[in-house]
Amino acid sequence: MVSYAKNNRHSASSAPEASHPGFADGSVDSFATERVSGRAGGSTGDPADYSANFLTGDSADGLAGDLASADVIVVGAGFAGAVLAREAAERGGQKVVVLEQRPHIGGNAYDEYDAAGILVHRYGPHIFHTNNRRVFDYLSRFCDWRAYDHEVLADIHGIYTPVPFNFNSIERHFEPELATSIIQRLLQTFGADAKVPIIDLRNSSDALLLQLADFVYVNVFSYYTQKQWGLTPEQIDPSVTARVPIYTGRDNRYFTDTYQGMPRNGYTKLFEELLKHPRIRVHVGLDAQEVVRFDYGDVESSDASKDPRWREEPGRNASKGPCGGEGPTASDSAVEANDPGGSDALDRPFERILVLERPFSGKLIYTGPLDLLADKRFGLLPYRSLDFVYKTYEQKHVLPCGTVNYTVDKEYTRITEFTYLTGQELGRTTIMEEYPRAFEGAVGQIPYYAILNSENEAAYERYRGLFAKLDGFFTLGRLAEYRYYNMDQIVARALELADRLFSFGELRHGA
Ligand code: FAD
Ligand code: UDP
Repeated sequence: MVSYAKNNRHSASSAPEASHPGFADGSVDSFATERVSGRAGGSTGDPADYSANFLTGDSADGLAGDLASADVIVVGAGFAGAVLAREAAERGGQKVVVLEQRPHIGGNAYDEYDAAGILVHRYGPHIFHTNNRRVFDYLSRFCDWRAYDHEVLADIHGIYTPVPFNFNSIERHFEPELATSIIQRLLQTFGADAKVPIIDLRNSSDALLLQLADFVYVNVFSYYTQKQWGLTPEQIDPSVTARVPIYTGRDNRYFTDTYQGMPRNGYTKLFEELLKHPRIRVHVGLDAQEVVRFDYGDVESSDASKDPRWREEPGRNASKGPCGGEGPTASDSAVEANDPGGSDALDRPFERILVLERPFSGKLIYTGPLDLLADKRFGLLPYRSLDFVYKTYEQKHVLPCGTVNYTVDKEYTRITEFTYLTGQELGRTTIMEEYPRAFEGAVGQIPYYAILNSENEAAYERYRGLFAKLDGFFTLGRLAEYRYYNMDQIVARALELADRLFSFGELRHGA
């Protein structure tokens, strides 16, 4: 079990501490057809090496010292932050500090064992799938996989129906003759194994296809989407409902990617391996805004030395600044630095990164929401949040498959049964109901999904503009980029950013 520096001043999550009775699943699976066996491990896989370079305990001095010598500061220990941190340390030879506001690593992929010994996901069900060989190979260095093909059934007035809606689904809801005609028409129009977004199908001029489109729209998309987003399918970006297209075939799997499965020992373990490196320090329970802020370089003197990165102990009770708790906020700085009042002043791009009130000239990789970094000066960026309700039953399974979507009734959108995902056979099982909520920015509430539409993306771009001139500042990840990325896409983006920033390290430190 990894230990990492824990800062108790801030607790943004109510996730309970993990108890680890261990995986009951001792089975051996092969993973897809191209499984990369075993764990290659990092270049620094020695546990002694690792523990010597991780902090334990709550140490403000340790934090200050770490920040003072950091080449790279990563905000957020989800997939974006953890992969980037690993690459910066390993490939770039950089000293990396990871700051995570939750009391644990893993971001939304975090999992832990519940009281019943079931490995559950605390921030939504996460099933890994990708067609990206580089991403799969990369993660395979840090975990073994359990083969798992996720299946989802929609409960349509009591009839379990495969989604994505496919030929099997059609046959469950249409009379045999009509079903055959619709299937034939789909094949003539789109061919076999095609993925047809519901919005495209609704634009069809063919009567048979329109009949299908209406049925699927009403029984699969309309109510579920209203619950999930508070919007109709037309009011969100078409790419959102296109994630679950109508499928012209009989494959009942939710994802058709080449590689799909679950980290055999869970995501949290995978993250522990990712972050296990002597040049990485991880501080959890710390909101980066307590130590990082931005200004214009003309609001406050600084004693930047010849090495512009600060190298001294800062004194955590400084009279100004986030650490002292009384310092100017980013928006205060904007007002001080400009004629107060105009929106031009509020839009002025930041010119400096301050870490513990000293100019920082290393790299800052930010994976959280951008509006918070600018004190929400243009208002909250719209996100959707979720509440989760867990229930444990003393029986093998309660659902027919990993997830059931409630597309025509219920307040929750879906229920996931974790024992399908893990393969655990304990004679008991844990399920989780998901209740979508408006994100209002309350303390502890988590922004899970960016609500994609042109208005919201413009609001995001306005925030983005504030950070556009900063050398060394990079946004990465689902929140910071305000996009709807799956895990594999985030890993790919982190690797690509590392390619740009740290490839030189392969030459310098590659031996
Ligand atoms: P996150 O995992 O959100 O990590 C960001 C981290 O930054 C968080 O830990 C946060 O606490 C931290 N942070 C933010 N601000 C600060 C700050 N100021 N100071 C310190 N720390 C900060 N993808 C799949 O591929 N398959 C799935 O089945 C799947 N299911 C999903 C289900 C749900 C309900 C959700 C919400 C997402 C799902 N995803 C799935 C998407 C997946 O969660 C993301 O792609 C992935 O977690 C993004 O990683 P990230 O690092 O960008 O963000
Ligand atoms: N969707 C729906 N009914 C379903 C499944 C999905 O309406 O049974 C729509 C809904 O708008 C949802 C989107 O398709 O938000 C994307 O679904 P996905 O399962 O990819 O969502 P995620 O797992 O990311 O929450």
